[in-house]
Order: sequence, then C-alpha cells, then structure tokens
Amino acid sequence: MAIQKEAFLKIKSELEKKHITLVAVSKTQSIDSILQLYELGQRDFGENYVQELVEKHKHLPSDIRWHFIGHLQSNKAKKIISFVHLIQTVDSLKLLQQLNKEAKNCNRNVNCLLQVRMAQEETKFGLNEVELSNVLENKFENVSVCGLMGLGTLTNDVVKTREEFSFLKRLQDKIPTAKILSMGMSSDFKIAIEEGSTLVRIGSLLFGERN
Ligand SMILES: *Cc1c(COP(=O)(O)O)cnc(C)c1O
Repeated sequence: MAIQKEAFLKIKSELEKKHITLVAVSKTQSIDSILQLYELGQRDFGENYVQELVEKHKHLPSDIRWHFIGHLQSNKAKKIISFVHLIQTVDSLKLLQQLNKEAKNCNRNVNCLLQVRMAQEETKFGLNEVELSNVLENKFENVSVCGLMGLGTLTNDVVKTREEFSFLKRLQDKIPTAKILSMGMSSDFKIAIEEGSTLVRIGSLLFGERN
C-alpha cells in the first residue's frame, strides 16, 4: 500500500507552524511504508504492540523516535525500555514502578505520559482524576512524567469530542510538569489542536487504511 504523500506533507507543514509534534502511527504497516515516510523526513513513529515494535526497531534506522501508544503490561516493559522514546500509555502506579526499575537497570531516564480515561471512552484503560493525582504524588529517579495522553470517544458528535479534549487540557493545566498533551487522531486531530493538543497520533491519514 502506498503512503499518502500529499496528505502527509500538508499535515506536517500545518503542525510545524504550530509547533505540534506529529507521531505517525505505524501499527500493522510495513517496514517499507515506514521507510517511505522516513525518507520524507518523518522521525516520530507510534506502535501499539511490544513484539511488533521490537521487530520494527531492529530493522529501521536508529534515529527514529519510537512512541509506545498501546496498553503496556508491566512484564513486557523490559523489551522496549532500552530504546523507546516516549511511553504514552502509563495507567498505573505499578507500571511506573516497573518502568523505573527497568530504566535503572539499563541506566537511562525514560519519559512517559499518563493515560487519562475520558468521559465515555470505550477502552477500559486509563486513570480517572483521583487516580491521576495519587500517581502524581510519587517521584521516580529514572522515569519522568512529561504529560498526559487521552483517547476521545469514537463518535461523530463533535461537541462531545471537544468536551473530552478540553477536560484533558484542564487537567494538564493543573500539573506544572505536564508539558506534553497527546490527543487527536486522524478523525479528530483538528478539534484536538483547537483544544490545546501538543502531540497528535495519526495513522490512517498518512498510511492509508490499515490492513
Ligand atoms: C491506532 C491509533 C491511533 C491512530 O489512529 P488513526 O485513526 O489511524 O489515525 C492513535 N492513537 C492510538 C492510541 C491508536 O491506537
């Protein structure tokens, strides 16, 4: 499948003007498609599955910044800790503790985002407001919490989508260390940007529909 070159260039230049990070979500996409975007200058890629990420990392240029955006089980953290750029989906204190331990073992500092569960989101993952503030009370030597991530409800109701993003933005505003706000995908990234997103995760608009 050919990448969507025109769409990519347009989105990239729009986002650059606004200093918003574009993460190209490459789950299920081939090494070859990823390389095509790489040749066009893309360096941030997002993957959802540990094994797939490990394989792709092995075969692709080492200056790619890999974002982990799927659900991460503590016992699998070890496999990606040595090279991952940003783990966006931390949803428990237990996972943070495990990440800190693994990061310490390989002598690095790992950046992560806390995943927040938004209003009526389908997925069962993510912290609610109370859990979020509890997690934030902990400080770790080898893990830095740099911001928040959220998935909007899959809906055509733009009012609702906007409400969810603005809820996440208000949470970010209360946390001085939360510089990154990861929200927005192919279907809703424009609304996310209007509501204050600093990082969007876009797959199908760049790669075409997933297999
Ligand atoms: C797949 C995925 C995306 C990208 O979705 P598109 O609709 O293809 O843009 C973004 N974020 C997460 C967490 C995903 O799993």
